[in-house]
Amino acid sequence: MRQESVDAILVDKDMPGYGGEEFAKAVLSDFRWSKVKIVLMTSLGMRGDAQRAQALGIAAYLSKPIRQSDLFDCLALVLSENRDPHQHPIVTKHIIKEMRHPLRVLLVEDNLINQKVAQGLLRKIGLAADIANNGVEALSAYQSHPYDLVLMDMQMPEMDGIEATQRIRAYELENLARPVPIVAMTANAMKGDREICLAAGMTDYVSKPIMIQHLQAALHRCLPHVFEKES
Ligand code: MN
Repeated sequence: MRQESVDAILVDKDMPGYGGEEFAKAVLSDFRWSKVKIVLMTSLGMRGDAQRAQALGIAAYLSKPIRQSDLFDCLALVLSENRDPHQHPIVTKHIIKEMRHPLRVLLVEDNLINQKVAQGLLRKIGLAADIANNGVEALSAYQSHPYDLVLMDMQMPEMDGIEATQRIRAYELENLARPVPIVAMTANAMKGDREICLAAGMTDYVSKPIMIQHLQAALHRCLPHVFEKES
């Protein structure tokens, strides 16, 4: 086959002997093929597979069974112009699902620089967020839209993170709403912060400066059904 006639290769990961990962490694390390988009498919998905595939420059990782609509959207995404597997997150069923129903995230933070930092981290994880500048704004935003996740600063003018969380929880109780995961962002890892956060009804916390792996771990704990093993 000539390389200019091939845009994408779908390959099974679990072939006897020479597996899909080895195949992908060989293809992508050949400069004539380095632009080909590889979709790795597996029925034996293991934690860490997607990360390893991403590191190899594989464009997509799909666990079987694969629905026709998932494959279609996957190919549309990996073949879209300017999508570089080294610059963008590897396409998984989770990413495809996200594309159809983006997760609604509310970022509550009064400091502009911290807002930018947190937004940057969320973007790397593939999430976009609405912003509330304090607890009062957070509460009214939460009452007008259902959010899937709230990231909450602790110290804010008008209303701090603790009070905003307590009011959100009270609102949920009154309205029989499913509790939204609230992840506190604590300024300094003060002793007792965690207990204070949890007592106020927060689900989890990360300390500032926020490390992306800590944020990811918190999201996995709070939204396990969204961030399945493939992400
Ligand atoms: Mn603050």
